[in-house]
Amino acid sequence: MKVKLGLLYGGKSAEHKVSLQTALAVNKAIDHEKYDIHPIYISEQGEWVRGNQLTGPVQEVQKLELKDGGNTISPVALNNEIFPAHGDKSDQTIDVIFPLLHGPNGEDGTVQGLLELMNIPYVGNGVLASAAGMDKVVMKNIFAQAGLDQVKYVSFIRSEWEADQTKTYEKIEEALGYPCFVKPANLGSSVGINKCTDRASLEKAFEEAFIFDRKVIVEEGIIAREVEIAVLGNDHPECSVAGEIVPKKEFYDYKAKYEDGDTAMIIPAEVTEEEYEVMKDMAIRAFKALDCAGLVRADFFLTKEGRVVINEVNTMPGFTPFSMFPLLWQHTGVSYPELIEKLVNLAIERHNEKQ
Ligand code: ATP
Ligand code: MG
Ligand code: MG
Ligand code: MG
Repeated sequence: MKVKLGLLYGGKSAEHKVSLQTALAVNKAIDHEKYDIHPIYISEQGEWVRGNQLTGPVQEVQKLELKDGGNTISPVALNNEIFPAHGDKSDQTIDVIFPLLHGPNGEDGTVQGLLELMNIPYVGNGVLASAAGMDKVVMKNIFAQAGLDQVKYVSFIRSEWEADQTKTYEKIEEALGYPCFVKPANLGSSVGINKCTDRASLEKAFEEAFIFDRKVIVEEGIIAREVEIAVLGNDHPECSVAGEIVPKKEFYDYKAKYEDGDTAMIIPAEVTEEEYEVMKDMAIRAFKALDCAGLVRADFFLTKEGRVVINEVNTMPGFTPFSMFPLLWQHTGVSYPELIEKLVNLAIERHNEKQ
């Protein structure tokens, strides 16, 4: 019997297009002898569409469409579509769901909550880890509690900033100084992130970050290499080799990630055995601190002096075949199709444990 795998992709987030690429890549790589793919597309307006097949070349992601049209359904109606006979497993139209979604409304626990209520296995992190991992302030507070080394940070909500902008900036200058990084608290793919070197750029960065979120985090800028580790598993997570990102620009911004394509990825990263061991230990501690499941990509800063600082974890990291997470596993001996299969199996394992 083939596994009926629902691919949930697109999504109401700034990372919509990335998700389309991922869905096409997963659909292409998966063993269609073992898996039946059931696409569920979420438009940028948040409309859910259930279709039969995924088509469209990767280059034309914007035009990606579901063959044979597809039916618009509400997220809540999805339950009835998947379990038409309610309780009769033989009629179930999807066995497992792979949420290939990044950012808010996908990677943040909202979709995970829906899938929990539906009582259907799904790939990756649950509600708590997804939500805590999406909010950089909450994540960093949990990491601090777990004793993980981090850069200094402060955060503000929009109303605080609006009440007294000058005071906000003065607080930052006192606590962190320049350079500092201003980020929307709940996002990814570097959307809305700016490096600030003076008051003027700080003001501009705040205006931009608050377009994306009502909460903003400001971090001390660190001069360091960027090294990432992929973690896979449930109760006994394992680490991949480390990989280094070498952006050609000021920092690893959205364009460098998805448009320029000239950011170098060095896998395995040239780090000492000791540095690698520290990173692995921190990656696992971060995974456990957030109570992660399935997968996580842990991003570190590594200074010249060998200080290892955790920047963040991503609970649904970029997952195209050219993304860091799958590449790290490939270099560790797990191919892209194998990785998809492992994740699906981990989803089923976790679901059965909960019963
Ligand atoms: P993604 O989820 O795609 O990994 P993100 O949107 O969550 O990204 P971050 O990883 O926090 O954003 O930051 C994006 C990039 O900005 C980093 O990869 C790094 O190049 C740079 N950066 C972020 N914070 C700092 C910092 N405190 N000091 C120096 N550089 C930083
Ligand atoms: Mg991130
Ligand atoms: Mg992300
Ligand atoms: Mg990052």
